[in-house]
Amino acid sequence: MLRVRELAKTYPGGEEALTGVSFDVTGNEVVAIIGPSGAGKSTLIESINRLTEPTRGTVSLDGTELTDLSKRELRRARRDIAMIFQEYNLVERLTVMENVLSGRLGYLSTWKAFRRKFPKEDVEFARETLDRVGLGGHERDRADELSGGQRQRVGIARAVLQRPKIMLADEPTSSLDPETSRAVMELLTEIARDEDIPVLINIHEVDLALEYADRLIGLADGAVVFDGPPVELDASARDRIYRDGDPSESDSDPDRAAEATDETDNGPSLEKREIQRGLN
Ligand code: ADP
Repeated sequence: MLRVRELAKTYPGGEEALTGVSFDVTGNEVVAIIGPSGAGKSTLIESINRLTEPTRGTVSLDGTELTDLSKRELRRARRDIAMIFQEYNLVERLTVMENVLSGRLGYLSTWKAFRRKFPKEDVEFARETLDRVGLGGHERDRADELSGGQRQRVGIARAVLQRPKIMLADEPTSSLDPETSRAVMELLTEIARDEDIPVLINIHEVDLALEYADRLIGLADGAVVFDGPPVELDASARDRIYRDGDPSESDSDPDRAAEATDETDNGPSLEKREIQRGLN
């Protein structure tokens, strides 16, 4: 179970991105974090695995207080938290298989990780998972030969390889067209059921959240202003979340998706890259 209590983040410039957020995530729930641009969605996702250090509050996963861990302990604990990124964060020049196997790097000794020497069962698991995400036969393709949807499937397969206790997805569909976005959301919900783990998805497309999530957490100005199933998201709840206008207007700018598609190899921070490579 993920337990978030009074989580707050003030950035060095003084921007209060989160003001004291609390919620639990259990079972194999698919939880969508929704809210207008700047509400704190990304900060929340990144504060859970301390990619962003929260200023105050606690996060625990199955009883382990992540917020108390030393850097070294945190590295180990992060094996249990798989991340899926908007820009996929694949290693472009490596094959699909190598990218997926990197989900196991956190489990190898330093030497084996350095030599990328994976046990046979990891390779087998990677093959099975690639079949499951619809990429059977693409093992040897280079990541940079794939379409956006295929890249995100690789990102999801890599997350599964971690055998995590929870998956965090930060805008996983923002760089994809509507049809591919739906396919990716469908896959994420399937994985949650099959692996019996929860998925927490930061998403600005409310329609996708309504269709695929079991539960929505609505953020506005860094605070939770709604927490419930999609059927409860009535007009007043929408007003609380999107005080400044309609959700469809806030972030879903087609130009942004187009721009984001180009962002494959230069966007993410070093730490994000290390997390996705299983090194952190
Ligand atoms: P969302 O994901 O909902 O768009 P963010 O979590 O990205 O929201 O941002 C929440 C607030 O924190 C915004 O006002 C944003 O400008 C600010 N913010 C985000 N990242 C940083 C940062 N690295 N430094 C300073 N302010 C930031």
